[in-house]
Amino acid sequence: MRSAPEKITLIGAGLNGPLLAILLRQRGFGVELFERRPDMRRVRVGAGRSINLALSTRGIHALHQAGLWQRMLGVIIPMRGRMMHSIAGDLTFQPYGKNETEVINSISRAELNIALMCAAEEQGAAIHFNQRCTGYDLKTGSIRLRNQETGEKTTRDAGVVIGCDGSASAIRSEMLKLNRFNLSQQYLDYGYKELTIPADFHGRHQLEIHALHIWPRGNYMLIALPNIDGTFACILFLPFEGADSFASLNSQADILKFFESQFPDAASLMPHLPDNYFANPTGSMVTIKCSPWHVEGRALLLGDSAHAIVPFFGQGINCGFEDCTSLMELLDRQGADWPRVFTEFERERKVNSDAIADMAVENFVEMRDRVGDAHFLFRKKVELALEAKYPRRFVPKYAMVTFHRVPYSVAMVRGAVQDRVLAELCDSVDRIEDLDWKKADYLVHRDLAPLEIAQ
Ligand SMILES: Cc1cc2nc3c(=O)[nH]c(=O)nc-3n(C[C@H](O)[C@H](O)[C@H](O)COP(=O)(O)OP(=O)(O)OC[C@H]3O[C@@H](n4cnc5c(N)ncnc54)[C@H](O)[C@@H]3O)c2cc1C
Repeated sequence: MRSAPEKITLIGAGLNGPLLAILLRQRGFGVELFERRPDMRRVRVGAGRSINLALSTRGIHALHQAGLWQRMLGVIIPMRGRMMHSIAGDLTFQPYGKNETEVINSISRAELNIALMCAAEEQGAAIHFNQRCTGYDLKTGSIRLRNQETGEKTTRDAGVVIGCDGSASAIRSEMLKLNRFNLSQQYLDYGYKELTIPADFHGRHQLEIHALHIWPRGNYMLIALPNIDGTFACILFLPFEGADSFASLNSQADILKFFESQFPDAASLMPHLPDNYFANPTGSMVTIKCSPWHVEGRALLLGDSAHAIVPFFGQGINCGFEDCTSLMELLDRQGADWPRVFTEFERERKVNSDAIADMAVENFVEMRDRVGDAHFLFRKKVELALEAKYPRRFVPKYAMVTFHRVPYSVAMVRGAVQDRVLAELCDSVDRIEDLDWKKADYLVHRDLAPLEIAQ
């Protein structure tokens, strides 16, 4: 290994920045982080910015590597499946996985961020708050900073710079000045808003705790994830424009009428709904793809700065954390040969982040529309039955993405093949008992080789 450089500068102390800092400190690198926001351990997080995350296998693997997973066990809530709410208030539960170990975990973004920042500091990383990166000099490698409280501007030599500064990355903006830098950004016509279902009078959850609740309504949906304090963090996804949109819900009366007609059981649990609605900002959702992700061996984009994705597969941070562990594997293998490590990192990760970006957009339609459909639920049952019979050959796409560390690109390609197999098996039947198992046996062995599953 070449001798470690003096320092690595990370821009952004969101979720990926501090995790990367821990992993780099474990390998002996000097690490400084610059974060534009104040320290959330001292200042309250802004309204509507505390949305929960669903952590799954890839993210958990990274937290294990950082020695943090045990600490997180006290602040996560396992969710075993989707609980669908019809307009009439009927509930349908659809398990995510084949058994009780295949769950996703609800965690508050702020709790996770705080745990990561504390651990990064314990490992010796320095975090500078209220420091907005306003530029990166592609030639000299220095960064420009502005203190958000005092307005003071500084320039610092930065060593190796890694942009962990999210979907509106300042480092990526500088890279736009490179010759032949590719950037695509695709906004959804839908926005989102955070709402809350409070705990009951005794501080208990008012809905089933071990589930991700969904109110699928075709063109829009509401979801709710449990918090450890008895509340549920809800997210309303609505079109920006048109009928039943953020543009059309303008008054307290509009909101109450909309919720009471579309999500009546949720509305009855939200006494502060209109206030909550107007207090929280409306967020937008974007898919960002770009290349290259690095400037020689001097600067790299990682996490949302390199590949922001829409949230419908619950994979944004799981993918970002997998970036961090992949980078460490390369570093352990190649040493701090940054040009080589960054080139291989992009080669390995881009095809996979592109795949999860596309699958996340597809999953939006599934969540808001198809999860309420009886035939869709039947197909999900058949998927689990096929997995039970052919455990390594037929692994549902959701499971490959969520419960395994199969490369996302492999999950996408195999998922498409499996969809065709499912279509052939399910299109003319709607009961498991009527499934043609001989045909299933033939199709599965013809079309699906055994899958390599990393433990
Ligand atoms: C509604 C919603 C729901 C989601 N649900 C899930 C989920 O269930 N599961 C999942 O895995 N993912 C989910 N995600 C995605 C996940 O939130 C992101 O993938 C993740 O936050 C990306 O982490 P990051 O560290 O790359 O960027 P961020 O978390 O955005 O952090 C970037 C940090 O950089 C700082 N920063 C930005 N610009 C500058 C600058 N110029 N100078 C200094 N600092 C700067 C920011 O203040 C921030 O702290 C969801 C996203 C949304 C919007």
